[in-house]
Amino acid sequence: MNISVKAYAKINLFLDIESLREDGYHNILSLMQSVSLHDTVTVGFQASKEKEISISCSDPSVPCDCKNLAYKAADIYPISGKISIAIEKRIPMSAGLAGGSADAAAVLVALNSLSESPMSIDDLKALGNKLGADVPFCIESGSYVAMGTGDILKKAPSMPNCTIVIAKNGEGMSTPSAYRALDEKYNRFDGYLPEAQKLDSLIAPDNNIDLGIYSKGLFNIFESVVEPCRPCVTELKRILVSNGAQAAMMSGSGTSVFGLFDNEDDAKRAVEALQDCGAVAHLCYPIKK
Ligand code: ATP
Repeated sequence: MNISVKAYAKINLFLDIESLREDGYHNILSLMQSVSLHDTVTVGFQASKEKEISISCSDPSVPCDCKNLAYKAADIYPISGKISIAIEKRIPMSAGLAGGSADAAAVLVALNSLSESPMSIDDLKALGNKLGADVPFCIESGSYVAMGTGDILKKAPSMPNCTIVIAKNGEGMSTPSAYRALDEKYNRFDGYLPEAQKLDSLIAPDNNIDLGIYSKGLFNIFESVVEPCRPCVTELKRILVSNGAQAAMMSGSGTSVFGLFDNEDDAKRAVEALQDCGAVAHLCYPIKK
């Protein structure tokens, strides 16, 4: 049996740090939003006594072995049989868009729907959390405030209707090195106070809010350490805003950037302008659930 699942990318409309934990991880405060840009993950399953996993991907730079998060997801899901995973990759890699986590979540969701004894969604999220803090969000998808390491999720009101352009150009950013740079800059978050008021303005339940006003709440602490060493991020933001974006910001630890548009024609022009500069650019929409 085969099943295809859309693995949606996520953007962070708000991302700040609450504290550095004793285990070295960070407690974050974030507003995560799924967008229609997606990988397509097709999972085939044939029951048998032994577990056998094979994986392929349309992008040759993605590891097609046990290092792939989608492979790891199949490995930890309690089911035995032949599992084949085919990933059609569209989400840019190492971009702060949770592409690997989305693929892993898609495999868990697919196997759960193929299983004769499926898990509850909460158990599936707990299993996904062992693979990465973004996986539980990717299993849910939609709009969520994320706390803890990203695994504590609280449903948030949907963002305003808009067109989103996501762009990436050049080098990615390793998430651990971005966190190290933050620890240094913010004195390991000793006495640091997150920008909670901005988050409050984003999650106020007002569906008719003007996109320009809404965008004033956008915040990503990682910009302060990533932009100085990745000037392409600043340039992508400039191109988005000069083509009519209400706001543009980096997603996650970078180096992708997104722009929010209330005019779809402007967004299309921005995609062309970004592509003319050699960037990868995608037009997409918020996923509302
Ligand atoms: P996050 O925002 O969760 O830190 P990211 O979007 O910045 O993630 P990914 O695209 O998930 O980054 O890729 C990060 C690394 O994970 C890559 O270097 C890649 O080799 C590895 N990886 C493992 N599995 C996958 C997958 N299915 N898709 C993409 N990358 C994967």
